[in-house]
Amino acid sequence: MVELIPSQDALMQILKRTGAFREGHFVYPNGKHSPHYFQMPLAFRYYDTARVLAVALSRKFRLEKDISSQLPKVAVISPSSGGIPVAFGVRDALNAEQIYWAEQEQGQRMFRQYVNQGEVNPCIIVDDIIRSGKAIEETVELVQSLGARIIGCGAIVRFDTAPEEIEGVPVKSLINFDVRMYESDQKCTECRDNVTPEHVRF
Ligand SMILES: [Zn+2]
Repeated sequence: MVELIPSQDALMQILKRTGAFREGHFVYPNGKHSPHYFQMPLAFRYYDTARVLAVALSRKFRLEKDISSQLPKVAVISPSSGGIPVAFGVRDALNAEQIYWAEQEQGQRMFRQYVNQGEVNPCIIVDDIIRSGKAIEETVELVQSLGARIIGCGAIVRFDTAPEEIEGVPVKSLINFDVRMYESDQKCTECRDNVTPEHVRF
């Protein structure tokens, strides 16, 4: 049976239509400039598009023997709030048993209290977007400290500057994005063209 995953172009159209992918001239809090900006929760605010994206990502995981053979005894884990709707959608599509999400508390990524050693199933870590991979790497450490194994990892969008593999597990994504990020305004094409900049949060 062939399981269809929409093309990268079709998926980009969804992100554009919902406002999750924006083009223009953006300045990030770290001072970097970019002609594009992702605000992924805008795509997850609509049930229909959220479902298309999560189901498509889940299909990439289901193709992995190490994952499909362990279902439903699997945990789907989000590193942050942005990944929570992705995690719920993927969990639903895979019929995985558990779901967890980490939060930043006092600069540290952690789960809610009373998640105990040995309780967490083998894990698939999912996020809406992987920029540097730092959030995923911190979540890997967190999961491993609880004695769980990482069997999958992925996001809707992966910047091509992010790692392709984490802890020996390939990073799955629906869209591999060719990121353009300028270190300063001197190097920025849009600054040179006098496009009005918008200041954005991560
Ligand atoms: Zn600029």
